Amino acid sequence: MDIDVTGVPTRVSTGHLPGAETVEEAISAAVTHALPHTEGAVADYIPTLAAADPETFGVALAEVDGDVHEWGDSRVEFSIQSISKAFVYALVCEELGHATVHERVGVNNTGLPFNSVMALELNDGHPMNPMVNAGALVTTSLVPAPTPARQWDHIRRGLGAFCGRELDVDEQTYRAESRTNGRNRAIAQLLASYGRLDGDAEAVVDVYTRQCSLAVTTRDLAVMGATLADGGVNPVTGQQVVSASVCRDTLAVLASTGLYERSGEWLFEIGLPGKSGVSGGILTVSPGKAGIAAFSPRLDGAGNSVRAQRVTAHLSRSLGLDVFASAASTKEHDLDQH
Ligand code: GLN
Repeated sequence: MDIDVTGVPTRVSTGHLPGAETVEEAISAAVTHALPHTEGAVADYIPTLAAADPETFGVALAEVDGDVHEWGDSRVEFSIQSISKAFVYALVCEELGHATVHERVGVNNTGLPFNSVMALELNDGHPMNPMVNAGALVTTSLVPAPTPARQWDHIRRGLGAFCGRELDVDEQTYRAESRTNGRNRAIAQLLASYGRLDGDAEAVVDVYTRQCSLAVTTRDLAVMGATLADGGVNPVTGQQVVSASVCRDTLAVLASTGLYERSGEWLFEIGLPGKSGVSGGILTVSPGKAGIAAFSPRLDGAGNSVRAQRVTAHLSRSLGLDVFASAASTKEHDLDQH
């Protein structure tokens, strides 16, 4: 269906976070609630992730005015993994536009795990959405540059602009994942066999593996999220990284697909767009207000951090961020008119 809204004057919904002191108190309370949850397991299918310290726990909230609140291990580096998909998607949408990327990559949830081959087979090789591996591989292949090396450069700089500092690859993770990513290579070959992948399949997987291996901190993720919350302007550096409409599109996709087959549960419990990665990070965005990031390596069965989900659920409520929550108006109703 083609929904044409050309020419419609666009306003955005507004609202503010409570003051800094309330935010800091809410973070402490959310951490106290999430800390005892030691269930779940560290990802083991990429060797360096298996070696992560399961006790690491960091939280950061970056406001759209540039204030950043941090707790715990918020400056510990880890590989960004699937959270990179959201930002590469935004960069590609910025260059190629809403319609092209919509057609090539899609926006619908597969209802299946992030690395599912069956999802491709069930959908005539269409990758379905940019947040599962198949869709992320197609998105990476669409980065407009003449060679894989230049594509990689574009991604590294672009993600760096989102977080306001130059990012580097965690070489150990990149090498380990390159040795063990047979499944992603198979997905890329399958996409190519359906004629849905631009460029050489092996080279696309290599660029994708590098993007997943970029080392970030919880604080970095919060600032990246705040950039998506702030109409594409990084609130710390002031740089316009992507347009406001690209941010809006990216967040809509995250709301329905950011936590893979658990995206429905996530939206039901948290009420905000989010994106998780298998190293243990979850980034959540409250449009117009803040980016919230949490990192803790123990994961549930779908590959989503247990503590990060809990800390975010708490913050979404205590800071009034759930986009679906409302309270009855306090304005007097004029009963005569109804
Ligand atoms: N690099 C990982 C992979 O491709 C990313 C997956 C994830 O974070 N869910 O398998």
